[in-house]
Amino acid sequence: MSTQISEQDIQKIVQSVLQNVEAVMKEMPQSANTPIKMKQAVHPEQQIATSAKPQISTIQPQGDHGVFASMEDAVEAGHKAQLEFMRNFQLKDRERILSAMRQAVLAEKENLANMVHEETKLGNVADKVAKHELTALHTPGTEILKTEAFSGDDGLTIVEEAPFGLIGAVTPVTNPTETILNNSIGMLAAGNAVVFNVHPSSKNSCAYMVRLLNKAIKAAGGPENLITMVGNPTLDTMQVLIDSPKIRMLVGTGGPGLVKTLLKSGKKAVGAGAGNPPVVVDNTADLEHAAKSIIDGASFDNNILCIAEKEVFVLDSAADDLVFHMLNNGAYMLDQYQLEKVMSFALEENEKQLAQGCSLDSKREYHVAKKWVGQPASAFLKEIGVVTNGEVRLLICGVDFDHPFVQLEQMMPVLPIVRTKSLDEAIDFAVKAEHGNRHTAIMHSKNVDHLTRFARAVETTIFVKNASSLAGVGFGGEGFTTMTIAGPTGEGITSAKTFTRQRRCVLAEGGFRIIG
Ligand code: NAD
Repeated sequence: MSTQISEQDIQKIVQSVLQNVEAVMKEMPQSANTPIKMKQAVHPEQQIATSAKPQISTIQPQGDHGVFASMEDAVEAGHKAQLEFMRNFQLKDRERILSAMRQAVLAEKENLANMVHEETKLGNVADKVAKHELTALHTPGTEILKTEAFSGDDGLTIVEEAPFGLIGAVTPVTNPTETILNNSIGMLAAGNAVVFNVHPSSKNSCAYMVRLLNKAIKAAGGPENLITMVGNPTLDTMQVLIDSPKIRMLVGTGGPGLVKTLLKSGKKAVGAGAGNPPVVVDNTADLEHAAKSIIDGASFDNNILCIAEKEVFVLDSAADDLVFHMLNNGAYMLDQYQLEKVMSFALEENEKQLAQGCSLDSKREYHVAKKWVGQPASAFLKEIGVVTNGEVRLLICGVDFDHPFVQLEQMMPVLPIVRTKSLDEAIDFAVKAEHGNRHTAIMHSKNVDHLTRFARAVETTIFVKNASSLAGVGFGGEGFTTMTIAGPTGEGITSAKTFTRQRRCVLAEGGFRIIG
């Protein structure tokens, strides 16, 4: 049977098919119309190869409770955590999280102290336990954040302390885990998250601390990775941290090189640098109390604290009594011969000058021998062959102003004592020995005018009167504690307040008007 189809019939069929296709296309969801979403036929082998290869957007860098293999991943995870922290967590949640962090560290303070001591070989375990305890208990949380309000005829204005976002922080080998705890409490209290580039010689203890804190945060219902770090920190990973656009603020605790690097970043930077705290003692002081206080501060953790007494300027008329009381309270006086022996291994000389054959004079440049930083007084005595009855906490020595032990921030339990003719000379020497760090100074005197004169001349961030330097960070003194004393950039005793941005919110008079 044959069918006759005219040219007209063919046109009708074609038009009807086209109309149907158009109707189907209109009913399809919009996205399905997009050509790139359309499924294409793929060869089975090609399909396997494509699905086995992870797409960059699908990789979820997990880290290990905040410890990451790369700085990029540490930053990315910290950034995500901070956004979640800000969106879904209130002030009361922050406090619950901080409390869990404090408890976790208190429960492990001995373990942490042992771990840090074993890894860094600096200081002593008992004082490290005390530092962890001090930091866990006396670092302020959200309570230090205050909203300022102005109200009047023109309405209401409030100034809030808002988070910066993600902070990049660098820590020293001298207080490694304590600085992580102290910085983290302050930064999280203010609503930030933090990425650390820790001192490489403390990376294992620091990784333990970061994991411990993240586990505590998670158990308290907080987000993962609020505190992150790179497992193998280097100067290169620090540069990644500094350069990352996701890092909104930098906080550095360490020597002058670090502070200089961070200040060159072009970002808001808080720099807590080196000190060389001088002590001035006049002849009105309670010399027994002064001696005990100086020994407490200068021997604590074998003198590795940046606030610790590093050199003493005492009026000639008070010097003998001060030394007498120091000897009665755990100090050992090195004689000239013993002092030279100590210098021969605890200090290293500038090689260039040695090659020029300079004699041992003040022009010679010295730096500290790293091996002897933070070692106990007993190790020094053993090295010079001195045997003593009973415990020696601190070595003392009589020297001139330009002695390297006065001029260098040596961080050893060797305290130089310089006799001065007058108070003016003592203050002048002390100001010079502080080298403009404006960090910490201590004075023992009952004369208010003397105290004021030295305080005004030295202009340090911390000025302690008639107590050990430790009182300056709330250890036996009033006020909260910190492990980051920002002298160079001026924030001083850092806390949650330091890690905030000021935000002004205004409801002007017009805002109260009822329209209608
Ligand atoms: P450090 O300067 O050697 O190291 C501190 C950190 O900075 C480390 O993480 C290190 O890797 C990094 N770093 C070192 N040199 C750097 C550079 N040139 N550029 C960039 N980063 C650099 O100090 P440290 O031996 O770890 O700690 C002791 C020093 O820190 C002392 O000078 C002490 O006074 C100071 N400190 C200050 C405070 C304070 O609150 N102001 C607190 C603790 C320690």
